[in-house]
Amino acid sequence: MGPGRADVLRTELGIHTFGDLLRHYPFRYIDRTQFHKIAQLNPDMPAAQIIGRLVHLEETGERRGKRLVGHFRDDTGTMELVWFQSVSWLRKSLQVGSAYVIYGKPTVFNNQLSMTHPEMELYQPGTKLSGSMSLQPVYSSTEKLKKYNLDSKGIQKLQAALLESILTQLTEELPDHLVHKHQLMPLPQALVAIHFPRSQQELLAAIRRLKFDELFYIQLKLLKNKLLNTQKYKGHRFAVVGERFNRFYHEQLPFALTNAQKRVIKEIRKDTASGAQLNRLVQGDVGSGKTVVALMSMLLAVDNGFQACLMAPTEILAQQHYQSIRRLLGNGIASVQLLTGSTPKKDRQIIHRQLEDGTLDILVGTHALIEDAVRFKNLGFVVIDEQHRFGVEQRARLWRKNSIPPHMLVMTATPIPRTLAMTLYGDLDISVIDELPAGRKPIKTLHFYESSRLRMFGFIKEEIAKGRQVYIVYPLIKESEKMDLLYLEAGLELLMKEFPLPQYHISIVHGKMAVKDKEWEMQRFVKGQTQIMVATTVIEVGVDVPNASVMVIENAERFGLSQLHQLRGRVGRGAEQSYCILMSNHKLSKESKLRLETMVRTNDGFEIAEADLRLRGPGDIAGTQQSGVLNLKLADLTTDQALLTEVRNSVIDLFKTDPQLANPINALLREYLTRAEPTISWEKIS
Ligand code: ADP
Ligand code: MG
Repeated sequence: MGPGRADVLRTELGIHTFGDLLRHYPFRYIDRTQFHKIAQLNPDMPAAQIIGRLVHLEETGERRGKRLVGHFRDDTGTMELVWFQSVSWLRKSLQVGSAYVIYGKPTVFNNQLSMTHPEMELYQPGTKLSGSMSLQPVYSSTEKLKKYNLDSKGIQKLQAALLESILTQLTEELPDHLVHKHQLMPLPQALVAIHFPRSQQELLAAIRRLKFDELFYIQLKLLKNKLLNTQKYKGHRFAVVGERFNRFYHEQLPFALTNAQKRVIKEIRKDTASGAQLNRLVQGDVGSGKTVVALMSMLLAVDNGFQACLMAPTEILAQQHYQSIRRLLGNGIASVQLLTGSTPKKDRQIIHRQLEDGTLDILVGTHALIEDAVRFKNLGFVVIDEQHRFGVEQRARLWRKNSIPPHMLVMTATPIPRTLAMTLYGDLDISVIDELPAGRKPIKTLHFYESSRLRMFGFIKEEIAKGRQVYIVYPLIKESEKMDLLYLEAGLELLMKEFPLPQYHISIVHGKMAVKDKEWEMQRFVKGQTQIMVATTVIEVGVDVPNASVMVIENAERFGLSQLHQLRGRVGRGAEQSYCILMSNHKLSKESKLRLETMVRTNDGFEIAEADLRLRGPGDIAGTQQSGVLNLKLADLTTDQALLTEVRNSVIDLFKTDPQLANPINALLREYLTRAEPTISWEKIS
C-alpha cells in the first residue's frame, strides 16, 4: 500500500506490521444469508439486512439538531433512515434512486419504523452478494481512515489481500501436543476463519483458538516467573515456631482466631518453613482480621532471628496499623516503630540505627520504608497492605534489602474475582480469609433518595442518642476536585444547621488538609469527642472505630462498587447493629441503580467484586487501568472463566512435566519465552 494509507493505519489503529493488521479482528459479522422485508421488521430485532431503494433524502434541523433523513422502500413498505453525523458528506455520497443493501438496528420513533446510521452498500444485481461469504466481517474504522478508502469494506479487502499473499507462510505457534490436547483449530486456519468465516461453527472454533492463545501466553509468562522465583530465590527458612509467637498466641491475643485466619497462618507457616521464598497474596474482606495474621507472621520471623516490616499505602493507615499492633502486642513481646514521611529527623536517625544494629524487630510505615537509607540488619519478612497501590517495582526494592530476599506477604481488602486474580497475580500464591470474626452482625444497607434526607437525619440522631458515632462521606474524585469540595461545603453547612453545637460535634477530614490537621480531626473522632465524621474518601482504607455504627454515603451513585464496599466496611466493627445508608439523586443511570441494588442485596465482598467485573470490565478494576496487563482482544475475563481455567491448568501441567521446556516438543514455547519482552509492565499498576 502507499505511504499515505500506511501512515493513517499506524496513527488511527496502531497497525504497524502485517501481524498487527491480522490481529485487527472484525468486531462483528453480518449474516449475509439473511434478508428481511421492511414489513417484517420490529424494534426487538437486534439488527436486520434489507434490500431496497433510497427514494428520498433531505437535511433537516439546525446546528446541533442537524440530521439527514432518508426514505427507504421495498415492495412491502417504507422506513426512515436517519444520520446525525457526517451529514454533509453522506448527503453528497448517497445516491437517491439507487438500490442499497442496508444493515442496522430497527427502531420505532414517532410511530414510524426507522434505522439510525445504517450501514449502506450499493446493491449490484448480477454480482453475487458480497462474494461467497455468508458472514461478512465488519471492522472498526474512523473518519480519517474512510478518507483513504479504509472503511470496513476497505479493511476487508486489505485483509483478504494480505491473507492471500502470506497464507503459505503462516505457521502453527503452539506445540502440536497442545493443539491436539485442547482440540484447537490450527493457527493459520484460525487467522483466516476469524476474518472470513465460512460458517458460524468455524467462526466459533477460530475465536476459541485465538482466545486460548491470548490467555496462554500470559499464563506461560506468569507461571514461568513464579517457577523461576521459587528456584532462583532461596528463602529464609523459619525453622521454629518460637517463644514470642507462642506467648502472643496464648497470653496476649484477646480473641479466638477464626478458622480462616488459622488456615492462612498455617499456609504462611508452611511456606516459610520450606526454604523457598514466600510470595503470597492474602485476600480478606474488610474486617476479616488481616492485621493479626500479618502480625503473627512477623512474630514468626522475629522468633527466627529476623526483622519484619509492614508497608501501608497511606500515612493514616500506617499509623493505625502501628497503633493496633502496639495494642495487640502489649509490652515486651517485640519492639515496634513507625516510620513515615513525617517522622522527625531525630527519630528517624534512631530508627535507622536500631534497624541496623538489630534492636528493632518490627517496622511499620509508608513508602518511606523503601528508601535506600533504610537498611535492615536482617530483614526476613515483608507485609504489604493494599497491594494494588504498590507496583512490582516497589516490591522489588524491598527484595533487595537483604542478600536473600525477604518473604513477601501481600494483603488486599479488595476481593478480586478468581479469573482476575489468576491473570493479575498469577505469579503469587493466593490465600483467602473468607470468614468474619464471630458475633459480627451483618451491616444493614439502605438506599435513600434525596427526598428522604430528613428521615436520614432523624435516624442519625437516634443513633447518636444511643451513644454511637456516624460517618458521612462525600465523593472526591480527582478530575473535579473543586466541584466536589463545593458539594462537601454545601453539605457541611446543612449539617451544621441540623446538628448544632453544643449538642453535636463534627470532625471534618478531606484530602486538601495538612496531614497534621487530618490526624487531629481523626483523633477527636477516635476518642469519641465528636459524634459525626464528615469526610471525603480519604477514610476509605483508614480508621478503625468500633463505636461507629452508621456510614452515610452521599452521592453514592458516583462511587464504584468496590469503593462503596470498602467504605461500608468502616462500620460493623463493634458488637452493635450497624447501618450503611446510600444517598442518591432520583435520576440514576441503569448502572448506578444496579450498583446500589447490589450493595443493598449483599455484604459478600467476592460477590461484589464479581458484579463489579461484570459491570465495568477488567480494565477498570483495582488499578489495572492502562496497565496493559489485560490487553485482551478477544478473551473476556467475565465470560471466559472456564477457558482460563483450562489454560492455566494446561500451563501448570506443562511446567510440571517439563520445567525448563527442554523437551524438543516444547521448543516453540522456549523460543517464545526467550524472545518475549521482560513480561508485563507491572509498575504501571498504580
Ligand atoms: P482488616 O482485615 O479489614 O484489616 P482488621 O485486621 O483491622 O481487619 O480487623 C478488624 C477488627 O477485628 C479489629 O478490631 C481486630 O482486632 C478484630 N479481629 C480480628 N480478628 C478477630 C477475631 N478472630 N475475633 C474477633 N475480633 C477480631
Ligand atoms: Mg486492614
